[in-house]
Amino acid sequence: MIYDVIIKNARIPQGDDTILTNILVKDEKIAGFIDRVDGVEAKEIIDAGGHLTLPGCIDSHTHFMYQGFPHRENFLTGSAAAARGGITTVIDMPCCSVPSARSVDQLKLKIDLVEPQALVDYAMWGGVTGEDVREGWLHNVQEQADFGAVAFKVYMTPSVPTYPRVTDPEMYEAFQAVAKTGLPIGIHAENFAMCDYFVKKFQKEGRMDGPAWAEARMELAEKVAIELGISFAEDTGARLHIVHMSTGIGAKLVGEAKKRGLNVTSETCPHYLTLNYQEAMTKYGPLAKIAPPLRTKRDNELLWEGLNNGSVDFIATDHAPYEIESEKLKKGMNIWTAFPGIPGVETMVPIIVSEGYNKGRISLSKMVDILSTNPAKHYGLYPKKGAMHIGSDADFTIIDLDKRWTIDPKNEASMCGYTPLEGMKLKGKVVKTIVRGHLVFEDVEDSTLAELTDEDLQRIVHKYPEGVEEKYPEIFKEFPNLYSKEYEKSYRINHPELIDQHIRGIKGIKVQPGFGKFVKRQSIQVLPRTITY
Ligand SMILES: [Zn+2]
Repeated sequence: MIYDVIIKNARIPQGDDTILTNILVKDEKIAGFIDRVDGVEAKEIIDAGGHLTLPGCIDSHTHFMYQGFPHRENFLTGSAAAARGGITTVIDMPCCSVPSARSVDQLKLKIDLVEPQALVDYAMWGGVTGEDVREGWLHNVQEQADFGAVAFKVYMTPSVPTYPRVTDPEMYEAFQAVAKTGLPIGIHAENFAMCDYFVKKFQKEGRMDGPAWAEARMELAEKVAIELGISFAEDTGARLHIVHMSTGIGAKLVGEAKKRGLNVTSETCPHYLTLNYQEAMTKYGPLAKIAPPLRTKRDNELLWEGLNNGSVDFIATDHAPYEIESEKLKKGMNIWTAFPGIPGVETMVPIIVSEGYNKGRISLSKMVDILSTNPAKHYGLYPKKGAMHIGSDADFTIIDLDKRWTIDPKNEASMCGYTPLEGMKLKGKVVKTIVRGHLVFEDVEDSTLAELTDEDLQRIVHKYPEGVEEKYPEIFKEFPNLYSKEYEKSYRINHPELIDQHIRGIKGIKVQPGFGKFVKRQSIQVLPRTITY
């Protein structure tokens, strides 16, 4: 047999140890592991250089802002950032698009629009909002689940205008609807009344400093929101998932709920493990503004502890880039009016490698679980994704554990151009990203994106694929152009050439836009509850 690819000299995890092997790939799937490659034929050889080779890492919480917010990001730049960061599959949120994705047609439209742009594989969150509850549209929940959405997202606080928040009783009805599907319901856990009240109070008192944002949206607002979510999960049997959990007390509550046998899970993000609001919000102001806000050094440590004791199940980024000129540092904007969101998909894996594994905070097997296996299982993509089994997709993240480098937003593929992680010195860098046996990223200067012509970029980025308007006439009738109000007020709407320049400057991409494929949920799977304290 002639294999398609041999990935030579791959140091793969085996528990907390590693073994050096060669990985055979046929038809984009893992076909075997062999000690010696002599006499084995393959069309292509990729050298892993003896580096640590993980099952492809997954970011299950991205906002790639397409379609509707093309001044912030599109699926090309977002998935390029993913590839550069060793992420082989992203799971995109349903809220940051026009329209948002909370019906099968809206999901299908989004997939049709991002398909020509994607560089890595992608699955989709389904959506449910207060509007869906009020309008009697909850039938959309089961329909999205049947279509292959992996989970459902609700917001307790207003966030994206296209995606209305739920009141507490509306959230209860959303829980009931999602419980019937067997899929997780992810909540943005911040109590609306608390946040709203204290933000207004601080504003009235004249607080304009960066840390004021974090102090107004206090830890207690997340705590009571998680407590309410746990009560609703207990009552409805829904699988509650706390997205972007920022506090140590949150980890404690989730751990206790797990111990009581409830199906409650959580994720945290690299920035909640490494940054604290006092330093980052003083230094970066609106550029470090996110919701929930950055917390304290103590929370950093408690969240690492949560990863180790099993109360935090995996890592995701909440990658949500905004345009500096119109949404972060616009003249007259302040800490209260700037938009909340930061990028992250390009730096998640290296931060966990550097600050977690290389510093001895987490073991190798834990790192594999929280970057790959657990999100794949939780969202029903395992063992197609998240596994190094024969028959699994040949997705790999290859990491040079010793390479030292410094985070610099100027080198990142995200269009936003800022990050409060700027200047963080890391040990450990992604050197190759492989998706379905194809080299998608290599840490070199040249890139297929540099060669895209004006016509290519018109077709891929600035126009919608042919025929979509005819395919979704009702959506286009309601949302002509699919533009958001924010896009219409943006800087880049008048400077589309900046988007082209940015894309051509992204380094190391080895495949053409459109390579990434939509991954439907395979099955419904529940993570084991392993609490160790
Ligand atoms: Zn988010």
